[in-house]
Amino acid sequence: MHQHASGAGRFAPSPSGDLHLGNLRTALLAWLFARSTGRRFLIRVEDLDRVRPGAEQRQLDDLAALGLDWDGPVVRQSDRLPRYDAAVASLVDAGLTYECFCTRREIQQAVSAPHGPDGHYPGTCRNLTAGQREDKRAQGRTPAIRLRAEKPEYTVEDMLHGSYTDAIDDVVLRRGDGIPAYNLAVVVDDAAQGIDQVVRGDDLLSSAPRQAYLASLLGLPVPHYAHVPLALNAEGKRLAKRDGAVTLADQRARGRTPEEVRAMMAVSLGMAGADDRPTTAELLATFDPNALPSTPWVFPTA
Ligand SMILES: [Zn+2]
Repeated sequence: MHQHASGAGRFAPSPSGDLHLGNLRTALLAWLFARSTGRRFLIRVEDLDRVRPGAEQRQLDDLAALGLDWDGPVVRQSDRLPRYDAAVASLVDAGLTYECFCTRREIQQAVSAPHGPDGHYPGTCRNLTAGQREDKRAQGRTPAIRLRAEKPEYTVEDMLHGSYTDAIDDVVLRRGDGIPAYNLAVVVDDAAQGIDQVVRGDDLLSSAPRQAYLASLLGLPVPHYAHVPLALNAEGKRLAKRDGAVTLADQRARGRTPEEVRAMMAVSLGMAGADDRPTTAELLATFDPNALPSTPWVFPTA
């Protein structure tokens, strides 16, 4: 077992509702990756957007019920706004940004134009003159701050996916309403918290190159990545509330204990037989990242 005395892994949920079992399984994996390598395990609540009252506590209770523990106090992004502002300011000062006055609708229309790259910002505001920006302001628009990406793409190394390259795009760093953008906040926080191992769902794999690029521009270390397979419903879509008993509370209501839910997850990870009830310590003792299934978990919705 490798020791990383100063490193940390993390789980970073948005408190927008209850965690479903796919999220909780990702949390279990992040915990196993961190603990099996001697890292600290940190919880960060990404509450800059979409907060539902009470959700954070229920999420923490669910993690604890599954037997996951974490180090230090829970960190909330809403307490850390000056850090994000400082990071954006440093990129602005370095000439690596521009103001974007586009509405969501304008971007969608431009993106659906025949020659635009799929879903990417078409660069409408990249080269606005000072006069044009003044006109937009006079119309009452407050700009978002975008990254002026100097490369089309970037490559990261992922423990499960190997070398992975994807487009960077001129990502938003701060939204027009002043809220720091997700990609910026994640990069700033991971570095500030000493997180050197990022384990999360593979729906976020395509965000890793732009986050790693942002980290490099900010002079921050790039973490080790492991993007793990998601939980899907019977139709192959990402698991969601409507798919039945998908939360720990739903499972409890059906008479299934957290220990049994953990066992179900362990079976799905190839780490237990159908009748086993492994503890987290037992799972930790046998955890092998190289033996993880590479395909999604199709959640038994019956
Ligand atoms: Zn724009």
